[in-house]
Amino acid sequence: ADKKRKQIFQLLTQATAFYQQQLRKHESRIEAARYLTKRGLSADIVKNYQLGLAPPGWDLLINHLIEANSSLSEDSVKKLAIEAGLLVENPENQRRYDRFRNRIMFPILDVRNRVIGFGGRVLGNSEDNKKQPKYLNSPETPVFHKGKELYGLTYAKKIFSQIPQLLVVEGYMDVVSLAQFDIHYAVATLGTACGQDHLELAFKHTQEVIFCFDGDKAGRNAAKRALENCLPTMQDGRQVKFLFLPEGEDPDTLVRQIGKDSFEQMIGKAVPLEEYLFDSVAENMNLATMEGRASLSKKVAPLINLLPKGIYRELMFSNLARR
Ligand code: ATP
Ligand code: MN
Ligand code: MN
Ligand code: MN
Repeated sequence: ADKKRKQIFQLLTQATAFYQQQLRKHESRIEAARYLTKRGLSADIVKNYQLGLAPPGWDLLINHLIEANSSLSEDSVKKLAIEAGLLVENPENQRRYDRFRNRIMFPILDVRNRVIGFGGRVLGNSEDNKKQPKYLNSPETPVFHKGKELYGLTYAKKIFSQIPQLLVVEGYMDVVSLAQFDIHYAVATLGTACGQDHLELAFKHTQEVIFCFDGDKAGRNAAKRALENCLPTMQDGRQVKFLFLPEGEDPDTLVRQIGKDSFEQMIGKAVPLEEYLFDSVAENMNLATMEGRASLSKKVAPLINLLPKGIYRELMFSNLARR
């Protein structure tokens, strides 16, 4: 099993280099470069984040991997590539083809700096590519568990000896875009909700987590789920805040509009968990009435009970009583 993992890591590393090379060499590099420019990504960022290109075509990557691993049989390379999430096998006709095609590729690194999977974004607008999902991630594999990884954490670790705060955003484009504006403490979950494992990982590296989801309906729902998921992880000393972006904006679009300083000023005004916990529940309640206050208490108390026993939980209960 150990040998298998090693081989999977090797294929993922080879795939990373292949996608980077395609971004320099393949005929569709021109379209890819135009897209990256349109998104405002500099050559430095592309290099630092090891971005690449999966060109259109069904077997470019797998043919490269077969060639690069000539000591293995073609069939064993294909089986490994399937396990690595790079090759897809159609269960109906057993046809095998490259999972990522015609996409900008974001390698996903773990905190030990190993490539464990990829995120791929379709080139251009999703309107032009209606049949293709805008984003595609590697599936769960022996080395990639979406529920446990944060995109960008390894870069933050490189920049800071002690990470002051981690900004949890929705997408890798947001992480990369913020980095270009010199904000190096953003991480993204990988197309899943921010769960307890993500938070425990974040808190291993910092004491303060700030959620910054998109200013859209999906983002607001994500904030509610993040609230419930973070409560059990709130040991004393840890801090969580919520930052709400203007309607229609995400961290990428916003930082490009207002720049680093204004963006960081907004971060400074993020709402602490102890406020958001009450505000999110009180949203449609009239606290001027006895009924309103009773119903607030009925809804907030179970949330506070999700907190681990400790001073923070006691404080929240006295906060509730005061309100
Ligand atoms: P872009 O800025 O590249 O156009 P977006 O900001 O519009 O993308 P959203 O729809 O806001 O993307 O989605 C937020 C994030 O959720 C994405 O950046 C991506 O990381 C992730 N995501 C969205 N759709 C999927 C999907 N189908 N599979 C995996 N992850 C996804
Ligand atoms: Mn969104
Ligand atoms: Mn976006
Ligand atoms: Mn978005």
